[in-house]
Amino acid sequence: MNQPFSLKIDNQFTLLLPADIQQDVFPRQVENAAFSYVNPQKTQQPSLVSMNESLAYELGFSPKDIQDKTIADVLTGNKIINGMQPYAMNYGGHQFGQWAGQLGDGRAINLGQVHTENKGLQTLQLKGAGKTPYSRHADGLAVLRSSIREYLCSEAMFHLGIPTTRALSLCLTGDKVTRDMFYDGNPQLELGAVVCRVSSSFMRFGSFQLPAMRGDKALLKQMVDFSIRQNFAHLGEPSPEVYLKWYQEISEKTCQLIVDWMRVGFVHGVMNTDNMSIIGETIDYGPYGWIDAFDLTWTPNTTDAHGKRYSFGRQPEIGQWNLFQLGNAIYSLIEDAEPLNKILNDYAVNYEQAWQKMMQAKVGFDSLIVENDAALFNRLEKLMMSIDIDMTLFYRALSSLPQQANLWQAHFLDCFYQDIPLADNYFEPFSIWLSDYQQRLTLNTSTQQQRQQAMDAVNPKFVLRNYLAQQAIEKAEQGDYSMIEELLQVLQTPYDEQKAFEHYAVKRPTWAKNKAGCSMLSCSS
Ligand code: AMP
Ligand code: MG
Repeated sequence: MNQPFSLKIDNQFTLLLPADIQQDVFPRQVENAAFSYVNPQKTQQPSLVSMNESLAYELGFSPKDIQDKTIADVLTGNKIINGMQPYAMNYGGHQFGQWAGQLGDGRAINLGQVHTENKGLQTLQLKGAGKTPYSRHADGLAVLRSSIREYLCSEAMFHLGIPTTRALSLCLTGDKVTRDMFYDGNPQLELGAVVCRVSSSFMRFGSFQLPAMRGDKALLKQMVDFSIRQNFAHLGEPSPEVYLKWYQEISEKTCQLIVDWMRVGFVHGVMNTDNMSIIGETIDYGPYGWIDAFDLTWTPNTTDAHGKRYSFGRQPEIGQWNLFQLGNAIYSLIEDAEPLNKILNDYAVNYEQAWQKMMQAKVGFDSLIVENDAALFNRLEKLMMSIDIDMTLFYRALSSLPQQANLWQAHFLDCFYQDIPLADNYFEPFSIWLSDYQQRLTLNTSTQQQRQQAMDAVNPKFVLRNYLAQQAIEKAEQGDYSMIEELLQVLQTPYDEQKAFEHYAVKRPTWAKNKAGCSMLSCSS
């Protein structure tokens, strides 16, 4: 019997947008349609690795549902519960700056939308559940390694307070999947896995680009209207004026998202327009990475190692480039370039302001003295670029900067990747900056304790360092999931001191510097 579970299913996306008229999954161009109905692939032996119970309850699952012996079947797509009509979304995108045409959900299958008490409609999506018409030459599957990375990082991001898709569950499929991790002719069999992810919208910039590029203005309008009614209803009923407001809000959300990434040292790694969420969430966790030693030119993605298009420091500019593409896509609905351009130009101005405010909070100034502080922040970044210093540890240590300058070197010692003792001339420019900073702090009216608290609330102590995710993966591949659970726990309160987990808040060990999975990641997943 196919009991419905206790979810309140309400598939607005498929109800209101046009479906592909074909039912087969063979790879093809899908025109005049926002999605294709598609059934997830049956797998050998689905089993649950980890479940995000609090999110499950928010979505409307009951304790009985979670205990149900078929829950892993549901969360891998082996069992379709009543009311669900699985589908893959159709979208395009610019990949590494080039228009790539139709891409679509090549291995993501949406189970449907559910009503929630506090978060409106939420879509449940399985990543790695089999082929769709958008799979091109690939297999539609995902491996355990990349699924753990998505599962852990979405939750880490959420608890950092940064907009993101969520992760409900991580399951093994019981099938083996072939992957050539470094595209070097060494394919291996890996464990197949499925993550169930959740968002109030999985639409991407590329969802609007594809109909626009194809000259399908009717579909473009339907998609934009749908997005506005579903996720931007506060802007009013769709009209050219509201389209502009919609674009402006997406621009602001994207700007804020990237400021947040820069604050915590997150590098997305593949900011193609098909990986840009229309509601400003972090989406599509692939070859992402977290900054250990501060380096604006660092990219975790081996495919991007040469061009460094998606390196840490270029993320703000790429955000604007992507918004420009979205603006082009919706131009035909507005037919006035000027206000679109204005929003795009404002993005740069707003970003600079938001970045300065973010830096002000990171270094603990009560207020911003625009003329002076920007220079101080820029000097700090330059300095951090010139020395090998751990970003997360540095900001955390800065909040408890000792008064006496002769204690500074010892205070920051654990943040440096250099061998100790540091040469005097190495630390010198840094101590000059610190004295200027200390001087500037005298303008604060808050107490030292208040400043420390405020700084620690924006500078996380615990982030999902690349090597930590890799360690959790290596254990899980041996059947030990304990580190996944432990990391989930630690990363739930990333700004708190957690004495028992001090070992997760240390700089990257030397062995991890050039290890695959720790510093270099490929798109193979
Ligand atoms: P990504 O760079 O991961 O966002 O992927 C770009 C496009 O390739 C998207 O349309 C994905 O759905 C698709 N894709 C990536 N991996 C696979 C896979 N294993 N099978 C099918 N499609 C895939
Ligand atoms: Mg993608």
